[in-house]
Amino acid sequence: MALELKSVRSDALAVLEKLGATPPFIEDGGVVARSPITGETIGRIHEASSSDVSAAIEAAHRAFLDWRLLPAPRRGEFVRLLGEELRNAKAELAELVTIEVGKIKSEALGEVQEMIDICDFAVGLSRQLYGLTIATERPSHRMMESWHPLGVIGIISAFNFPVAVWAWNAALALVCGDSVVWKPSEKTPLTALAVDAIMKRAARRFGAVPAGLSQVIIGGRGVGEALVDHPQIQLVSATGSTEMGRKVGQRLAARFARPLLELGGNNAAIIAPSADQGLALRGVAFAAMGTAGQRCTSLRRLFVHESIYDQFVPRLKAAYGSVPVGDPRQEGVLIGPLIDDGAYKNMQKALSEARGGVIGGERVATPSAPDAYYARPALIELDAQTDVALRETFAPILYVMRYSTLEEAIDLQNAAKHGLSSSIFTLDMREAERFMAANGSDCGIANVNIGPSGAEIGGAFGGEKETGGGRESGSDSWKAYMRRATNTVNFGTDLPLAQGVKFDV
Ligand code: NAD
Repeated sequence: MALELKSVRSDALAVLEKLGATPPFIEDGGVVARSPITGETIGRIHEASSSDVSAAIEAAHRAFLDWRLLPAPRRGEFVRLLGEELRNAKAELAELVTIEVGKIKSEALGEVQEMIDICDFAVGLSRQLYGLTIATERPSHRMMESWHPLGVIGIISAFNFPVAVWAWNAALALVCGDSVVWKPSEKTPLTALAVDAIMKRAARRFGAVPAGLSQVIIGGRGVGEALVDHPQIQLVSATGSTEMGRKVGQRLAARFARPLLELGGNNAAIIAPSADQGLALRGVAFAAMGTAGQRCTSLRRLFVHESIYDQFVPRLKAAYGSVPVGDPRQEGVLIGPLIDDGAYKNMQKALSEARGGVIGGERVATPSAPDAYYARPALIELDAQTDVALRETFAPILYVMRYSTLEEAIDLQNAAKHGLSSSIFTLDMREAERFMAANGSDCGIANVNIGPSGAEIGGAFGGEKETGGGRESGSDSWKAYMRRATNTVNFGTDLPLAQGVKFDV
């Protein structure tokens, strides 16, 4: 069936205006803002030059010098106002996310809600940047840890979470006393500029925000590299492909700057014999097909126990056959477009490499919008885990395999180079615990009876191996955005040296 798609350009302009972002378009701009819904160009935007990047970072550094001296709870008050402005703008910002990335309405609203949630979390955190008091071996001494603001934080984000990833980083960095410079994906400049406008409204309400505290620099890889190499950037939180992270990580290591890498994933789920199959089916369907397979935590490999394979997999195939694909603005649609032709080509390449029974994967015709790429999600049954299944293809492809023992399933799951997210569906407590144990899943996220995607902000988010090892969002991730000083204070009249060393002069 062909899709009829209406132009989104005027809606994009209207929503930008409602969000208070002046349409940033110039004729010869190097960054093309487009919508995957129709594939049309919405406008061209000026790309930051290397001197623009330096100016932004230097201004952010000056802002940091003042911001770090403001008491953390006051910084939290600013983030509270940011959260309030995001609440006010939630519907419009989500609409822009839908236009620029193609997410269905509930997922776009969910993404903005994550921004609000992390602001709330950061406000509480602004009164809890605790350091330890540590027992010392010397009499009349005190030892403690102090946490201090770090500096200018560079944020590089991927197209698929165009606004939430900025908020996970910025909300924490700001309460920690840092300033932020954000290079969004070149595929999503409009949502970034809209967030910047919201941020500026919060800053006006707060009053005492130093100019330059939060900056956005628009551009592609070259702009990202300039950010990564700038000596005044203390930490780069980079979200995107493993290929990008490998380059960014090496450049940062060369100048001993800190990396926080949130890279690709090749996430798996195990469906054990005791699984609640109805629940597992919904969990798998959302994790594998939701967001058109364009989440870092999307489910890509499924291991189904041989005893239930012939019951479970046909039900899953039926769900694949009936899931509605179409204009993400329409009620009832669950799968929107792929981001661009590159994503569609990668999907087709993987499908042609995989040797197995394939359902789905075909392009949905869009006669009125030839540059839009909608594909039906694909399910491929494999006899063995081949190279193509061990690679992250950022598209809705699920590789399905049989297993016979839990050990085998865990080994198959851990065979991927990435280590982001994983899950098991089981009602057997021993299996669930084994999956989460030291010799179980090797991922940063290991879930039981929910799929691998859709994390909450309260937990530390990130993964191992080629996912980069970074953790952001909840738990104690804030520590990445601060520097730790160990302080030893002698309040006695002697000078005992540590480890009993004698040095009497
Ligand atoms: P991408 O790697 O193409 O781009 C991500 C960002 O990095 C963009 O802003 C891009 O301009 C920038 N960039 C690229 N090369 C760079 C370089 N050498 N130096 C500095 N910056 C550079 O990724 P994408 O296609 O936008 O996003 C999809 C990928 O992101 C997938 O692999 C997905 O798994 C991953 N991702 C990971 C997470 C996570 O939290 N682990 C979250 C979202 C997306």
